[in-house]
Amino acid sequence: MPDDLVVQINPSRVAMIGTDQKPARCCSLEGEVGSGTRCSIYEQRSSVCRDFESSWSQGEVNVDCDAARAAFGLAPLEQPPYEFELPISA
Ligand code: SF4
Repeated sequence: MPDDLVVQINPSRVAMIGTDQKPARCCSLEGEVGSGTRCSIYEQRSSVCRDFESSWSQGEVNVDCDAARAAFGLAPLEQPPYEFELPISA
């Protein structure tokens, strides 16, 4: 993780700049929330980001996903009518 993208939050941990604010907006998030966004450091993102699952990506609700969407006035994701898998990049 590039040092210029993080802020020290305690002696042993850092957070992405912007995620320690209200409302949170990671400095690596590009685009407009609710219209289309992408992570500009997707391949280098932290383990916290890698471990976060959007609701229904593993067949169940993630209440943290719903809360993050609600913070931006977005409704929870609806359960898709079919099973799907996220694409795996080569
Ligand atoms: S996935 Fe990317 S944009 Fe989202 S919080 Fe992590 S670093 Fe930021």
